[in-house]
Amino acid sequence: QCAAARLYTEQDPLVILTRDSLQATLTDSTSAWLVQFYSSWCGHCIQYSGTWKALARDVRDWQGAMGVAVFDCALEDNFDLCREYSIKFYPTFKVRALAHVCVYGVRPAGGDREIPSVRQLMVNILQNHTTEERPNQCPELRPYSSVELLPLLGQKSDHFTAVIVEEPQSFTGREVILDLLPYSGLDVRRALSSDRPLLDTLGITALPSVHLLHPNGSHYSLHTEKRLRFFFTSLLRTLPGVHRKTHTNSSVLNPQKEALSAIQDSPPWRDFDRSVVYAADLESALHYLFRVELASHSSLEGDELQTFKDLVTLLAKLYPGGGAVVKLMETLSDWLLSLPLQKIPYQAVLDLVDNKMKISGVFLGAELRWVGCQGSAPGFRGYPCALWTLFHVLAARRHAAPSSLRHTALEAEPAPVLSVMRRYIRTFFGCEECGRNFEKAASSDGAAGISTPEQEVMWLWNQHNEVNDRLAGSLSDDPLFPKGAWPPPTLCASCHEENRGLHAFNQQEVLSFLLRHYGEDNLSRRYAV
Ligand code: FAD
Repeated sequence: QCAAARLYTEQDPLVILTRDSLQATLTDSTSAWLVQFYSSWCGHCIQYSGTWKALARDVRDWQGAMGVAVFDCALEDNFDLCREYSIKFYPTFKVRALAHVCVYGVRPAGGDREIPSVRQLMVNILQNHTTEERPNQCPELRPYSSVELLPLLGQKSDHFTAVIVEEPQSFTGREVILDLLPYSGLDVRRALSSDRPLLDTLGITALPSVHLLHPNGSHYSLHTEKRLRFFFTSLLRTLPGVHRKTHTNSSVLNPQKEALSAIQDSPPWRDFDRSVVYAADLESALHYLFRVELASHSSLEGDELQTFKDLVTLLAKLYPGGGAVVKLMETLSDWLLSLPLQKIPYQAVLDLVDNKMKISGVFLGAELRWVGCQGSAPGFRGYPCALWTLFHVLAARRHAAPSSLRHTALEAEPAPVLSVMRRYIRTFFGCEECGRNFEKAASSDGAAGISTPEQEVMWLWNQHNEVNDRLAGSLSDDPLFPKGAWPPPTLCASCHEENRGLHAFNQQEVLSFLLRHYGEDNLSRRYAV
């Protein structure tokens, strides 16, 4: 398949069906499917592919009930199946409700193709399944009545129940129910505004509204800045005890091993505030970077040495707080600049760091001390989390002090933080695959066009969200800190909007938030050495 023909790739959050998988998907699957039959040479399909990917991303958490897929009728291998399914025009959409495959639209145009309409179609199909046809994991989407819900008030339970009360024609409640499908610890139900006894008992005056029944028996209205799907979903996902289901399976399979390793390996939990950046994380990242990651290279020369020197310069000039870290980086930077050597043994760097530490007192702690980057179990978060944080902080500092790199080798770089980060990740970061992905994104996704500190801050933010999006629900996703679009509304409500039914970020608000969040004033020294 030539590159031009690949409208969809494995990186997209949808299933690319092949001749072998189409039949099985449409006949044996336990979930419903929405399949776009397209042709990679058709102009409409090319134009529409961005919308289809955005839809797939938007409903990715609904997969257990209904998946989104594509099938390319331009591939010779697929000709006969497209004929069998009577695909005459492109794109053609077919819904596979469990008992049958039906055409929902041939070349749907205009509003029918827009994301909110397709999403509502998906909800309607799932809600209108007969019991036998209902996908295994499809949640209950019908409205509950006050007769069913009011007896739950005051009851203790092992999970939260969220009741979303809304107008009958609103889809928000059902969309939130489906968004929370892969999460445990929470049951979401929909109720209608026409149910007076419910509204009166719960004291609901504005719609849509979320009423939360706590496991301890108390109940209250959930406050969100905006009454939008994204706000409700984000808030409900972060309730204590609400986790993505992916990881619970492993502890079910091997509970003793998990419990044992948790006791043996877990450092004590440190309470922290998600709206703050912790110096302890940045210093632990540097500790790991200098003493473990770089130390695996016995000597540095050529590009490696240049990258190392530039990193040290960046840290000397931009690391916030001007404390011991900056002093050490300045010493290291001066030492590196004064060296005429083309190759330096890494042990010499370590010796210098140790000597300097002895003279100046404390610098890098003798242990890793994750705070905002703590994981719920060994193996989650930690170093990669703190490394992202470090580069976000450096980008924000460069914005605050644009002339700080004057008279350094980085002065002429249009995006110095990103340039050093790219080279560091490519050269030294232990996760090779991550480095490849990051480099691919940076070389294809406009990084070359960055010319201002604002663009640098925003590019990093956007790229980090792309990674979050790709990894959401994967094995590296800590169930206690599920990955998703960041910052969540709890950190920045004004960063979020809805644009033609789809969640959107307000870029200006995001920039202001990032500069504040990663700025010097938001750096806490709690838990730092
Ligand atoms: P992280 O994603 O590490 O985020 C750390 C903190 O940054 C969060 O707690 C939050 O406070 C903040 N944050 C989150 N999103 C944003 C944002 N958009 N902008 C600003 N701040 C934000 N793992 C893979 O499996 N595959 C990869 O391809 C991969 N690529 C990586 C590339 C880089 C450059 C790095 C540094 C790491 C990469 N990782 C990859 C690791 C992965 O991205 C996470 O760092 C790791 O899984 C830990 O995740 P976390 O939940 O602690 O949050």
